[in-house]
Amino acid sequence: MKKQLCFAIAALYAGSFLYAQNGDPKITEVWNPEPRIVTPGQTSADPPSDAIVLFDGSDLSNWEKADGKGAAAWKVENKAMTVVKGSGAIRTKQSFGDCQLHIEWRTPAVVKGDGQGRGNSGIFLMSNYELQVLDGYKNRTYSNGQAGSIYKQLIPLANASRKPGEWQTYDVIFTAPRFNKDSTLKSQGRITVIHNGVLVQNNAAILGATQYIGIPTNTFHKEKEPLILQDHGNPVSFRNIWVRELE
Ligand code: MG
Repeated sequence: MKKQLCFAIAALYAGSFLYAQNGDPKITEVWNPEPRIVTPGQTSADPPSDAIVLFDGSDLSNWEKADGKGAAAWKVENKAMTVVKGSGAIRTKQSFGDCQLHIEWRTPAVVKGDGQGRGNSGIFLMSNYELQVLDGYKNRTYSNGQAGSIYKQLIPLANASRKPGEWQTYDVIFTAPRFNKDSTLKSQGRITVIHNGVLVQNNAAILGATQYIGIPTNTFHKEKEPLILQDHGNPVSFRNIWVRELE
């Protein structure tokens, strides 16, 4: 009797499962919202149709000195911009929060210095969170300071560095930190970084604003802030910089 009951229940389950699988397939179709059309570039380096191009190789019109004291003074030639030692960091005139960023960079072909002194620059998301740019090819330094690190916070998952003098890419997906009305931290920023096609940061939680000395801090800032490129005294070059704002 017990056996028969079990069999009956099993048959009932199987029946309902079969009914669901053989029912109307439209029930599980979702049509709204319909994703808007974004025309991709010819290659992954080309800006998609909705991207804001921050540097296309022609000039620094979208940039200024990061201290706000005048025009960006980096050198532009051969469709690239290069750090001019001592001229200072530069920042975008426009501010950004959540975004997708594509940026290409190149450390000097002629290797000088070592560790942090070799091909050092950096990309400060929201002016505060440094994605390290460094010659990482056979150049050991502290792991949380090498290329692909969030400086002194997050070690990259791999060292995907190309040789000095070769162009490299970062594709970044960044979620800004959120702050409460009383200026305390509501949620941490998050970052995904693909370095030369290799995942090096996987939706990693950012601990706070980058500090050279001491632990990261979480100080209130606006919902959108400029992107900064660092002058660390080394002639690092950048090109093909574009950003897509995320909602
Ligand atoms: Mg740096």
